[in-house]
Amino acid sequence: MQVKPAVSLEQAWRSVTQRAEAAAGGRPVRVLAVSKTQPATAIRTLAGFGQRAFGENYVQEALAKQVELADCALEWHMIGPLQSNKCREVAEHFDWLQTLDRTKLVGLLARHRPSGMAPLNVLIQVNIDDEASKSGCRPDQVAALAEAIAAHPQLCLRGLMAIPAPDPDMARRRAAFARMREAFDRLRADGGSADTLSMGMSEDFELAIAEGATMVRVGSTIFGPRGG
Ligand SMILES: *Cc1c(COP(=O)(O)O)cnc(C)c1O
Repeated sequence: MQVKPAVSLEQAWRSVTQRAEAAAGGRPVRVLAVSKTQPATAIRTLAGFGQRAFGENYVQEALAKQVELADCALEWHMIGPLQSNKCREVAEHFDWLQTLDRTKLVGLLARHRPSGMAPLNVLIQVNIDDEASKSGCRPDQVAALAEAIAAHPQLCLRGLMAIPAPDPDMARRRAAFARMREAFDRLRADGGSADTLSMGMSEDFELAIAEGATMVRVGSTIFGPRGG
């Protein structure tokens, strides 16, 4: 039996971006390459193909890669749970924070955003399946958080983010994405700068796009499985 050659990083990345565009059917959609645990060399390779936006979960790991890739002009998204003692580093070193889920962090982030930088783009993370183990606010808390963010010119509210439960029943996942879309539409009805709905990962990003995602966060389908 012949061994199939491994899919190259370039092929995997092109395939994901093409699938995302096909699922969006002409609507704009952004692919965030989730590079946690991946080496800076792999990020540099993708940057060479034109991938600009990368997502990281751990602040220290991200900062080390940012130093190594300082010449690449990349856009860095913090997508891991945020503790208050990391607000300063996130405010100083990231372009986006996708996991804002409590008002306590809002003032800290605004205070630490350097005045010479553009506002920090933030997404409110919603715990859409109401899982006890997950971070994210309840859907009925979004409006209050949005109001708190709007009070700070150092922050720019760009929309909502969710990590629905990895339910094997795709119909239930779809329903969670649809509930997020409703929350996003409510947020947008209040006016303001929200234009981003971040949901969908390697296993379900096309489904998420079909339900209205404008940004998908894809790791293993681009980079291959994460090593231990
Ligand atoms: C790791 C991670 C992803 C990417 O997961 P894959 O299944 O590898 O695509 C997306 N979003 C968040 C918040 C993550 O932590």
